[in-house]
Amino acid sequence: MKKKIAVVTGGAGFLGSHLCDRLLADGCRVIAADNLITGSLRNIAHLRKNKNFEFIKKDVCRPWTITGKVDYVLHFASPASPVDYLRHPLATLKVGSQGTEHCLKLAQLKKARFLVASTSEIYGDPLEHPQKESYWGHVNSIGPRSVYDEAKRFAEALTMAYHRSYDVNTAIVRIFNTYGPRMQVNDGRVVPNFIDQALHNQPLTIYGDGQQTRSFCYYSDLIDGIVRLLYSNLHQPVNIGNPKEFTILEFANMVLKFSGAHSKLVYRDLPVDDPKQRCPDITLAKKHLQWQPKVSLQQGLQETLAWFKANCCDEK
Ligand code: UDP
Repeated sequence: MKKKIAVVTGGAGFLGSHLCDRLLADGCRVIAADNLITGSLRNIAHLRKNKNFEFIKKDVCRPWTITGKVDYVLHFASPASPVDYLRHPLATLKVGSQGTEHCLKLAQLKKARFLVASTSEIYGDPLEHPQKESYWGHVNSIGPRSVYDEAKRFAEALTMAYHRSYDVNTAIVRIFNTYGPRMQVNDGRVVPNFIDQALHNQPLTIYGDGQQTRSFCYYSDLIDGIVRLLYSNLHQPVNIGNPKEFTILEFANMVLKFSGAHSKLVYRDLPVDDPKQRCPDITLAKKHLQWQPKVSLQQGLQETLAWFKANCCDEK
C-alpha cells in the first residue's frame, strides 16, 4: 500500500516535532514546514536521515504548495506560549489567519484531511467550568493575549467556513496545557520556567497568588488524541487535555518535590487577562475517539525533569 503523505506546519516546534515522530511511526511520509521563529532544528535533528521525512523552511503566511499527493495537512505553526506570542503579536495573528487559509487551500486542492491546532485559549478566562466544546468563551478581544486567542478563534471560523462552503474534510483540536521534552527552556510557560528555576536552585516565580488552576497533559497522551482525531471523520472541535486540575502553587510544590530543589517561592504580578481556571471536559474525546490521558503528572513531570537535566542544564 502507498504511504500516506502528511504535511505538518510548525513541524520543528514542541508539538509539531512530536507529531512528525508519531506520523512516521504510523507509516506516513512526513513533510515538515517551519519558519523557525519559535521552532528549532534541534527538535527534528534525529529525523534528518530518515528517508520518509523532509523539512522545508517556509513561512506559511505566504501562498505555497506541495507537488504530488497529500493526504493530511496538520496546521501547527504558531507561537504558542504567552511570552512568545507577546514577542511576535503580528506573526501570531498572521499565521492564525493567512497561514490557516493557505493550509486550508492546500487541503482543498489535494482533497486532504485538514486538522488545525486550536487551543483552550479560545475559551478565554472561562465562566463555565470545566470547559465543554459547546461553551463560547469569555475573551477580551483587544487585550495583549487577544493576538493568540482571536487568531485561533478566527482559524476555527475559517476552518468551518471551508468545510461548509467547499466541503473540505476538516478537524479542529482544542489543545489544553501540554508539557514534556522539547519545550523551549525560555518560552516562559510555567512548566519550563519552574523546572529551569528548580534545576538551578533559583526561586520559583509564582504569578499572582498561585491559586489559578491549570490541567497538564503529557505530550504523548496529547499526540495520541490528535492522531485519533486525524484518523476519525469528526468535524466539530474536540478538547484534548488532561482533566486533572492543579493550582499553580500545588504544581510548584510538585516540581520542588520531584527535583529535590530547595528553591524559595517568589510572587510576581499576574499577567493581564491570565485565566483563573482551566480544565477540559473530555466527554466528546472519550465517546468518539475512545481517548483519555494515561500519564499522571507525577510520571510525566519526572520524565520531563530528566529530559531538561540532560538537555538544557548547560544553556545558561
Ligand atoms: N505562571 C507562573 N509562573 C511562571 C509562569 C507562569 O505562575 O513562571 C502561571 C501563569 O500566570 C498562568 C499559569 O502559570 O496562570 C500557566 O501559564 P503558562 O504560561 O504556562 O500558560 P497559559 O495556561 O497561561 O497559556
